[in-house]
Amino acid sequence: MNIVDKFKLTGKTAFVTGGARGIGKAVSEGFAQAGANIVIADLDEAEAQKTAKFISEEYKVKSIAVKTDVTNPESVNNLIDVIDQEFGRLDIAFCNAGICINAEADKMTFDQWSKVININLTGVFLTAQAAGKYMIKKGIKGSIINTASMSAHIVNVPQPQCAYNASKAGVIQLTKSLAIEWAKHGIRVNSISPGYIGTELVKASPTLIPLIKTWNEMAPMHRLGEPEELQSVTLYLASDASSFTTGSDVIVDGAFTCF
Ligand code: NAD
Repeated sequence: MNIVDKFKLTGKTAFVTGGARGIGKAVSEGFAQAGANIVIADLDEAEAQKTAKFISEEYKVKSIAVKTDVTNPESVNNLIDVIDQEFGRLDIAFCNAGICINAEADKMTFDQWSKVININLTGVFLTAQAAGKYMIKKGIKGSIINTASMSAHIVNVPQPQCAYNASKAGVIQLTKSLAIEWAKHGIRVNSISPGYIGTELVKASPTLIPLIKTWNEMAPMHRLGEPEELQSVTLYLASDASSFTTGSDVIVDGAFTCF
């Protein structure tokens, strides 16, 4: 197979958590452009339905929405059951749903801490675990991609976000652990670490909006990344083009973490 063909995802099925908007939506569009059928798994059912409809009309692949709470094992099991009924296979899992709460450590409440860890770390474990179990059962040599962050590598300033930083560092070690455990099944597990990306997580957050100017001054490229700039790296990791890449974290941050 030539290298260009190795990037094709025709006949494959992918689920994308947090796929209704932002990075998840852009990555879903990238997978769909490469021919994959797409399952948008998001807590926001209305937005997920809209995105799935858009993807199926725009890219002529099958795309459905499944309301999913990544922190709830029953909800995640339901996602896998629906995928099995609708597609009979799962090749790619993009475990991406995440939130950020900014609070100084001495003022952070237990609820704030728990919410961030539950969605960003436990949610990635539950969705990756469910995907891996299904792939093992079906003998599918699939690809699991988890969303970490440059915050796994550096402590972002000036905004305080210790729970977020800790959750994302956890995602990278979780990814490496799963990569080693599941290599024998031919399942690859990698993570991506985006820098600041212009999604609603950033642009709709009252605490983060005033900081965009500061980040742009600090950033070597003096701009935020666009969600679409994560399509190529995730397509690489999802496809056969990355057949010897597992347990890796790919930083896509315009060199923000380089100094
Ligand atoms: P976003 O807020 O635009 O989208 C997040 C999506 O996740 C939303 O559709 C939301 O409904 C969904 N979601 C939230 N909780 C959920 C749950 N419990 N179950 C299922 N879905 C849930 O965010 P984004 O910027 O697209 O971020 C996506 C991922 O990328 C997150 O993990 C985030 O931490 C990470 N990230 C973002 C940036 C950035 O600058 N935007 C940088 C690095 C990493």
